[in-house]
Amino acid sequence: MGYKEKGLLVVLSGPSGVGKGTVCKALRSRESQLDYSISATTRKPRAGEQHGVEYFFKTKEEFQQMIDQNQLLEWAEYAGNYYGTPLDYVQNTLESGQDVILEIEVQGAMQVKKNFAEGLFIFLAPPSLSELKNRIEGRGTETAESIAMRLSIAKEEIEMMSHYDYVVENDQVTLACDRIEAIVTAEHCKRERVIEKYKQLTEVDE
Ligand code: 5GP
Repeated sequence: MGYKEKGLLVVLSGPSGVGKGTVCKALRSRESQLDYSISATTRKPRAGEQHGVEYFFKTKEEFQQMIDQNQLLEWAEYAGNYYGTPLDYVQNTLESGQDVILEIEVQGAMQVKKNFAEGLFIFLAPPSLSELKNRIEGRGTETAESIAMRLSIAKEEIEMMSHYDYVVENDQVTLACDRIEAIVTAEHCKRERVIEKYKQLTEVDE
């Protein structure tokens, strides 16, 4: 049997408004080696969002059913809505040797860390808190109440940075994407990941 490396599970999180969605969209359009996992959510679609593209939009009952049937790798309640990562897609993609990126908030990331310690955890950080506020307000998609809630959660989220392997500042989307791709490339060269492959190569009889 030839050696087949499993894909890498990349978890990208960071406070709301930092630009995780924009960075992931840019990574998707670059056709980088990262497959994007589409989450399920009970949040209502924003203008322009499509079922099966940004999210799988679910009712609370449907979401609860996914939890009950162990169909989610992780899930969390965030600002009054539920968000979760479908397990099947992630498992199948990793098994096929393809890398997967999850764009999720910090509680979910910590659940993934418990079950997938070998994952690569990247925290996307804003240049400053005032810049974060500008970005959330500038998006124009949230109510005043939702903005306030997201900002107060953001402070707690930034404190979770210490649990991540890497911190990437999102000062410019292109630069942030370059940094993420560089981290993923480096991770693939990590001794622990490749040593098994070379062990098998040297064990083959001439
Ligand atoms: P938004 O409502 O702005 O699309 O997302 C709100 C937050 O939920 C963001 O921080 C986003 O990264 C996070 N999120 C999106 N999908 C998931 C998921 O599957 N699991 C978890 N835990 N968080 C998610």
